[in-house]
Amino acid sequence: MLRYDLHCHSTHSDGLLTPRELVRRSAQRGVDVLALTDHDELSGIAEAKDESGHVRIRLVPGVELSVSWRHVTLHVLGLRVDPDCAALCSGLATIRAGRSARARRMGDALAAVGIEGAYEGALRLVTSERLISRTHFARFLVEAGHARSTKDVFQRYLAPGKPGHVEHAWASLPDAIAWIRAAGGQAVLAHPGRYPVSPAEMQELLTEFHATGGAGIEVQSPSHSAAQVREFAHQARAFGLAASSGSDYHGPGESSVDLGDMPPLPAGLIPIWRDW
Ligand code: AMP
Ligand code: MN
Ligand code: MN
Ligand code: MN
Repeated sequence: MLRYDLHCHSTHSDGLLTPRELVRRSAQRGVDVLALTDHDELSGIAEAKDESGHVRIRLVPGVELSVSWRHVTLHVLGLRVDPDCAALCSGLATIRAGRSARARRMGDALAAVGIEGAYEGALRLVTSERLISRTHFARFLVEAGHARSTKDVFQRYLAPGKPGHVEHAWASLPDAIAWIRAAGGQAVLAHPGRYPVSPAEMQELLTEFHATGGAGIEVQSPSHSAAQVREFAHQARAFGLAASSGSDYHGPGESSVDLGDMPPLPAGLIPIWRDW
């Protein structure tokens, strides 16, 4: 049985390790197949691919797209994408372009509750000039003593409804899935248990995701409780969607689950890698 980890982040988005370091660490930890899935970004793939040639690991080019669906932000993983696909690259460039203006508005929103210099502080912590995320704000707020941990920051300042959260329109779900498919990839709904939707809305989301060409859902994720793993395993079977598994690793000290450490998928599911 091969060990798969199909979700992680490098310094090309909001992770703490370089693509090369991620591949090395995964290989040392016994991962056989690793997908690098930076937020809205493919620029780390070349380095990861290069490093995968020096260790016993198969690198799957991936990406995690930010999507707006109704009132919620969704994350859609693209797995086995062609990183040179023009449609995907230009779609991702559009998503990234909105991030700078959003970050400035976040800085203004935080200043309004007495936290000065958050935009500049977050900017100092970005590791790719192409991408700023809430994670960078979270790290700055911890560093500046406004909260004890990044988890704490999200709860108090950055989650929807909190003072530093600003509304933002990401890609549409049909566009995101179309770009992934144009790049020859499989679209996987990331950590579905995290979305603040009613059970009825979840049914509608999965129906729409499936009808629009979505291939699978991420059943095994550190974002999921044991009950949610069972629930989304059930949904995958019910919708005829494949199942994926990923640690969503962001770096040492920041992630509860390390690379490759997800439990196996529940029985009776079609693994997203079945035909790889
Ligand atoms: P963004 O794409 O800029 O909205 O940032 C989203 C990122 O913030 C996610 O990919 C996570 O890395 C991080 N994040 C979101 N919610 C939390 C949370 N509750 N605790 C810690 N990190 C979080
Ligand atoms: Mn992240
Ligand atoms: Mn995510
Ligand atoms: Mn992620």
